[in-house]
Amino acid sequence: MKEMLYFGFVELYEKLNSTTKKLEKISILADFLKELGEKGKDEWIYLIKGRVLPEYDVRQFGISRQLTIKAIGSAFGIKDEEIYKRLRKIGDLGEIAEEFAGKKHQSRLFSSKLYVSKVFSNLNKLFSIGGKGSVGKKIALVSEILGSASGKEAKYIVRTLLEDLRVGVADGIIKDAIAEAFFPDEKKEMEELIESAYDLSSDYAVVFSSARKGKSELKKIDIVPGRPMNVMLAVKAEDIDDAFRICGTPLAIEYKYDGFRMLINKDGDKYSLFTRNLEDVTKQFPDVIDVVKKNIHGESFILDSEVVGYDPKSKKYKPFEAVSQRIKRKHDIDKLVRELPVEINVFDVLYYNGKSYLSVLFKERRKLLEKIVKKIHLKIQPAKQIIVSDKKQAEKFYEEALKAGEEGIVVKNLNAHYRHGRKVGYIAKLKPSAKDFDLVIVGAEYGNGKRAGWLTSYIIACKSGEKFLEIGKVSSGLKEKSEEGTTYDEMTKLLKPLITKTGNNYVSVEPKIVVTVIYQNIQKSPSYNSGYALRFPRITTYRPDRKTKDIATLEDVERDVKK
Ligand code: ATP
Repeated sequence: MKEMLYFGFVELYEKLNSTTKKLEKISILADFLKELGEKGKDEWIYLIKGRVLPEYDVRQFGISRQLTIKAIGSAFGIKDEEIYKRLRKIGDLGEIAEEFAGKKHQSRLFSSKLYVSKVFSNLNKLFSIGGKGSVGKKIALVSEILGSASGKEAKYIVRTLLEDLRVGVADGIIKDAIAEAFFPDEKKEMEELIESAYDLSSDYAVVFSSARKGKSELKKIDIVPGRPMNVMLAVKAEDIDDAFRICGTPLAIEYKYDGFRMLINKDGDKYSLFTRNLEDVTKQFPDVIDVVKKNIHGESFILDSEVVGYDPKSKKYKPFEAVSQRIKRKHDIDKLVRELPVEINVFDVLYYNGKSYLSVLFKERRKLLEKIVKKIHLKIQPAKQIIVSDKKQAEKFYEEALKAGEEGIVVKNLNAHYRHGRKVGYIAKLKPSAKDFDLVIVGAEYGNGKRAGWLTSYIIACKSGEKFLEIGKVSSGLKEKSEEGTTYDEMTKLLKPLITKTGNNYVSVEPKIVVTVIYQNIQKSPSYNSGYALRFPRITTYRPDRKTKDIATLEDVERDVKK
C-alpha cells in the first residue's frame, strides 16, 4: 500500500502560490516530483492541476456549488443556511470549508491522516456514479474525505471539486520540473524530449512514469490509436513566394477546407474521434464512424482530417460556424446528423496497422493515404492535392480553391516528417488577407431596447504568457435569429455561468469562450491593458473547438501593428 499524506499536496499548492517566479516554481515542483516518484502513484501527478484524470479526459465531477454546500454541511454537521450565510460574507466555498474543518478539529491537537490514495479514489468514484440516488452517494464520498481533512486540506479538496484550484502551474512548468527532477545534468535537452513525449501521449502520468525510469523509456513513448494527441500546426504564409520559401520546391498544395480538425482513430473494433483540443467527439459523430467503418480498411489507424458540413438539400458546403453545433451537442444527435451531414477530407496518416508514421516523410504518408482512402462523393476523400514547382501553377490552384469556396490553401513540405504539437513550418496556410485573430471574451455588457437582457458587447483579450490582455470591445457579428449563426441569446447563455463579477451594466467573465474576430487595423490605445485596440472589430465565428491556449498572443498583435 502506498502511503502518502494529502497534506503533501496542500503544502505543494501553498508553496507554488507563494511565488510568481517561474524558476522557483519549477524547483519546488521538481522536489515534490522526486518524492512522488518514490512514494506515490504516477496518476497522482494529475492532482497538481486539481484533476484526477489526464487532460484529454473531459469527464467532469458533476459537483455543483449546491452539492458542495451539502457535502460541507454533512461533513461538519452544519446546516445549509449557516453555510449560505458565510458564503454571502466570504464568497469562497474553499475558505468556508477550511473554516469549518478548522473549527471541528480545534479542540484537540489534530493531525490529519488523510491519504492521497483516499482522496484520489473517492474523487475518481464520482465519475462512475449515475442514476437514482446518485446525489446522496456523491455527497457521501465527498463528505467522507472532507470530514477527516484539516482546514487547509478541506479548502483544496473543495477547490479541486469545483475545478477551480487557483494554483498557478502552467504546462511548461510541469514539463520543466520533470526534466529538473530526473535529468538535472541534461535539463535543456530533456525539456524537448519531455515536451515531445507529452504531445504524443497527452498524459502527464505516462510521461512521469517513463521519465522516472530513464531517457530510453521516454523515447519509447509514441502515438497510440484511441488516445488523443497534439496535432501539427500550420504557420502563416504571406503569399505564394513565401509558401515556397517555407516549404521548399517542389511542394504539395491542398485545399484549405473550412471545417474542423478531426483525428480519426481505430484500434481493433474500437473507433474514436478527437478534436485538435484533445476533446473526444466520438459520440457526436456516429455518421463519421459509419463512413470510416465501411470504407477504410486496416486493423488500426490514426487519420488526420478536416470535417466539413454541408446542406443536405442544396449539397452546398457550410462554413465552420454551422458544423460547430455538432461538436458540443450531446442530445438529438441523430436529428443533427440528418440536418447537418459532414464530409471527411483526410489529409494525413499518422499510424497504420500497428506502426507509427510520424517519422515517415510526407510524400510517403500521402502515398499510403491514397491507397487507403477512396473518394466517395460527400462522404470521404483524400484532400485535393497537387505537387508543383512552378509558382504560376501554384497561383492557379490557389485561385481555383477560392473559386470552389474554400478558405485558401495549405502548402506542405514533401520531405518533412510529422511534428506533432508544433508550428515548425512543415505546413503553411495561405488565405486572402482578411485580418483576423482568435481571441477570448473576458467581459461583456448588456444591450438595450430589443436586445435588453442579452449580453451584446464583448470585451476581448489576447494572451501574453499566462495573462489575458484586453484589446477591444466588439458588438457586431452575432445574430438575432438562430438560422443565421450564433445568436446573442446563445452567447449570453454561454457567458452567464462564467460570470465572476457584476457591475452596473457590465460583467467580468472567466476567459473560456473563444471567438474569431475580424478587424480593419490596430491602433495604440490607453483604454485597454494590452495598449492596443482593434478598429472595426466584428465576430465572425464562435470557436467551441478552440481553447485559450490557441488564441492570438500580444506578439501576434504587435507584429500586425508594425505592418
Ligand atoms: P486561422 O487561425 O488563420 O483562422 P485556422 O483557424 O483555420 O486558421 P490554422 O491552424 O491557422 O487554423 O490552419 C490550419 C488548419 O487548417 C488545420 O488545423 C486544419 O484544421 C485546417 N485544414 C483544412 N484543410 C487542411 C489540409 N488540407 N491540410 C491541413 N490542414 C487543413
